[in-house]
Amino acid sequence: MGTYGLALVKLDVKELIDHLNKALADEWMAYYQYWVGAKVAKGPMKGEVIAELLQHATDELRHADMLAVRIIQLGGTPVLDPSEWKKLGTCGYSAPTDPAVRVLLDQNISGEQCAIDVYSKLAEMTKDKDEVTYQIILQILTDEVEHEEDLQALAEDMEMMK
Ligand code: FE
Ligand code: FE
Ligand code: MG
Repeated sequence: MGTYGLALVKLDVKELIDHLNKALADEWMAYYQYWVGAKVAKGPMKGEVIAELLQHATDELRHADMLAVRIIQLGGTPVLDPSEWKKLGTCGYSAPTDPAVRVLLDQNISGEQCAIDVYSKLAEMTKDKDEVTYQIILQILTDEVEHEEDLQALAEDMEMMK
């Protein structure tokens, strides 16, 4: 990264890169969980749920890209081996072994709540310390808050069909 840009960061850069790599691992697992969940989904409101899952998968992949670009700017290396994802990630991976849309929604709601937690902590860590990373984290956090709401709204609609 440019030396002048790097000098703006008032945090331990190595530690920051580690945190961003943990988030990157989470984003890839979230991406795949949504993507493969959309493939196997079964049950009421399947069409609507699949559309939402695919939209979220696209968002998670964009988040992974934003994090990887920032990691490189900071002089780090984005996690190179998928076998590291589970070890590094905070939110884990919930395989959609039960394809019922209601179960998929609940798994993904938990994932989003974990992501909100991860990014609010990262926001706290970077606020007033690294404005560039902070802005990226805020954009991602805004998406995760929207994701949770979208999924909970679908679950609520599903309840009203009963
Ligand atoms: Fe995300
Ligand atoms: Fe999300
Ligand atoms: Mg959405």
